[in-house]
Amino acid sequence: MKKNIVVLGSGESGVGAAILAKQVGYTVFVSDKNALLPVFKSDLEKHGIEYEENGHSLERILSADEIIKSPGIPEKSPVMQAIRKKNIPVIGEIELGAQFVGSSKILAITGSNGKTTTTYLLYHILKHAGLNVRMGGNVGKSFAEMVAEDLEHNHLEPERHFVLEVSSFQLDDIQAFRPNVSLLLNITPDHLDRYEYKLENYIKSKFRITMNQRGSDLMITNANDVNIQNYLSATPDSVQCEKYEVGSADLVDGYVRVADYSFDLSSSALKGPHNMFNAACAIRAALEVGVSAEEIEEAIYSFIPPPHRLERVAEINGVLFINDSKATNVDSVFYALQAMDKPTVWIVGGTDKGNDYTPLFPFIEKNVKAIVCMGIDNVKLFKTFEPFGLPMVEAKSADEAVRLANDFAQAEDVVLLSPACASFDLFKNYEDRGDQFKKSVLALNSKRSNKII
Ligand code: ADP
Repeated sequence: MKKNIVVLGSGESGVGAAILAKQVGYTVFVSDKNALLPVFKSDLEKHGIEYEENGHSLERILSADEIIKSPGIPEKSPVMQAIRKKNIPVIGEIELGAQFVGSSKILAITGSNGKTTTTYLLYHILKHAGLNVRMGGNVGKSFAEMVAEDLEHNHLEPERHFVLEVSSFQLDDIQAFRPNVSLLLNITPDHLDRYEYKLENYIKSKFRITMNQRGSDLMITNANDVNIQNYLSATPDSVQCEKYEVGSADLVDGYVRVADYSFDLSSSALKGPHNMFNAACAIRAALEVGVSAEEIEEAIYSFIPPPHRLERVAEINGVLFINDSKATNVDSVFYALQAMDKPTVWIVGGTDKGNDYTPLFPFIEKNVKAIVCMGIDNVKLFKTFEPFGLPMVEAKSADEAVRLANDFAQAEDVVLLSPACASFDLFKNYEDRGDQFKKSVLALNSKRSNKII
């Protein structure tokens, strides 16, 4: 009999899973508590997949042989509780994808920060070296949908490589998912609301990336990350394959040392020690799948980092504007401020996720000359940073923030948008925030040149 699958949730991941499940011959039904986005609706219709929206028909869901759960759906939700009570097997979309990739190689990247940058870089290196490679997962197309397309077009040969960004939520729903190479970049508190506010649970979830790795599989991780290293000391059995650690000793003056090679990244587009670290991890992974050091170095020089991550927008009258809108937590701002070597006007703010700003204090004293708080509620920011005695102002839009920041800045300064917060108070998402920032910066440019004319 055909396997009867219910997919819960209909975002990128749920729809991808549904398409793959249908393609391999399962009976598929998609159920979403909310309305479906038109683009996903038409995807499902195109593939002849039945769905419901704005509510779950529990009886139908509970008759499934297997549930594929989207990563956004918490275990606490009533529908998941009912499913667990009935002991119906539950997997996630990446687990499903992995069941159908045959002997393809999987390179999976997780961590609290740097996932997307490292995913893009590793993909770029492998592509540049001529490997048969695709990139996706938690960024871009879902793994399951890529696999469905590959099956349809017979693209799993010659040896396919999947470079996948993987979130902790996705890792929570794997069972046999076994990357050939896993990268665990770092662990800092994030998403704790999904982990009973226990960092320990979040750490365990991240370590699931290696739980099925064995023998000559490779795990690449961070020698200096306290959470990772403490966990490894307490549970040495958590890694059952080869392990390679990148530490700050391997990153010196723009040079990155990996295995027996040294790479000069000083004039690449990757800026800041955190990006040197990301590059070292990607390099080690690329070496593992047979890319030569020469090809890697070449590829790194042609790499353009993804937008909204320390993205250089423009230099206007000697002031450099940098868009780091993706910095939605304190840790990523830590690295952004650390990478600044000029006086910096810092644009910060948005929806605070219970931030502790203390780690930033040394950089505020050293590099920051003024602070623009861009958000609806800036009370906490003022309370935290006013004692530094720097000029501080509020802005209620990207346009206002850019104008105010520009007033504080002089030639040779930097204006850095690195918010440490989510964007949902004033913007649709971090991309919207970054795009509006860039637009306002470029408008400033045209106003200035109008003045000069
Ligand atoms: P993710 O996909 O994990 O959110 P991104 O590559 O999108 O990671 O980067 C998110 C933010 O984190 C950016 O502001 C970026 O500058 C910063 N960042 C990138 N790599 C690291 C790293 N290794 N450690 C800390 N912060 C980083």
